[in-house]
Amino acid sequence: MIFKETKIFKISDSFPTKEDIEKLKEAADIIKAGGTVCFPTETVYGLGANALDAEAVKEIFVAKGRPQDNPLIIHLDEIENAEKYCLYKENPYINKLIKFFPGPLTAILKKRDVVPCIVTANLDSVGVRIPENPIAHEFLRLCGVPVAAPSANISGKPSPTCADHVIEDLFGKVDAIIYAGNCDVGLESTIVSLVKDPPILLRPGGITYEMLCDALCEVAVSDAVLSEMKPDDKASAPGMKYKHYAPKTPVFLVMGNDKKVIDFLKDKQTGESCAILAFTEDLKYLESKNVFDIGSKSNPDENAKRIFAHLRATDSICGLLNVYVHISDDKSGLRLAVFNRLLKASAYHIITLED
Ligand code: AMP
Ligand code: MG
Repeated sequence: MIFKETKIFKISDSFPTKEDIEKLKEAADIIKAGGTVCFPTETVYGLGANALDAEAVKEIFVAKGRPQDNPLIIHLDEIENAEKYCLYKENPYINKLIKFFPGPLTAILKKRDVVPCIVTANLDSVGVRIPENPIAHEFLRLCGVPVAAPSANISGKPSPTCADHVIEDLFGKVDAIIYAGNCDVGLESTIVSLVKDPPILLRPGGITYEMLCDALCEVAVSDAVLSEMKPDDKASAPGMKYKHYAPKTPVFLVMGNDKKVIDFLKDKQTGESCAILAFTEDLKYLESKNVFDIGSKSNPDENAKRIFAHLRATDSICGLLNVYVHISDDKSGLRLAVFNRLLKASAYHIITLED
């Protein structure tokens, strides 16, 4: 692959200053000219290109090493602009979800011909998202075109929740990176398909299953959320069959009553070279070496914000045999999304400690 000169546009903490807007204009010009730009959103950082330019979109797949049958989501500044790219107004469900836009929700809708097949992996539907992050919003407004964007990481690795993760994976492979703060949610958007009856949750995220049920009355849950898809499965959530979010070291999820889990983790710490992602409540029982605090067991927002950064951080520890993650058996609210990402990061390896 050709090494690209990657421009870094550092956005100030007091966004939006005049300089910030100038930088976003320059970044938007790169998109309009067919280039690739990484940008912050409230979920994770995205790697964007003009969704209407098939050649530009191809560069996303190349930079990430992403399989071409894994469709991309298009990002818009306003939901009112969606009608140009998909059958938005005639969808029977979308009105009930309007309150979640802008926000961490992707709606799958019937696509219009103007969206190239490469974006949707030849599907006749397209994922549409309106980010809430003010930098993303202004950037998309200045682009004036829909921006196709998956997460700004090498395919298979944990998603980027800060600009340094993006630099680590994509410097030299993209035309620009908008360098700003950490992502608020820390997990990718919720994806709900509105071309099915009833609508189906394809990926849990910041807009929870319970919130969707409240708005839509009935929501099905894709098998891909909690179970393993085989490479030849015809997935209702294409892309979910691929390896995801995984650090270099094998990951095991550990669940059971807290005392049992802590005893198990202490035992592992004395017996082997391992890293542990633990709840804040566990820390006082463990040796501190290679232990990462994922936040309180009672605070899934905090867990969501931290898991990708911690999984990624284990890659820089030499000689690790395994990574263990203490997980909760509660899957309500945002915990379902945390569990889903950890499940995939661990390739479905769960150790359940019986009472
Ligand atoms: P990423 O951009 O890496 O967050 O992944 C986007 C995911 O959205 C894909 O892996 C698909 O699972 C899902 N997706 C995108 N577009 C569609 C679509 N038209 N139909 C169903 N799922 C989609
Ligand atoms: Mg991704």
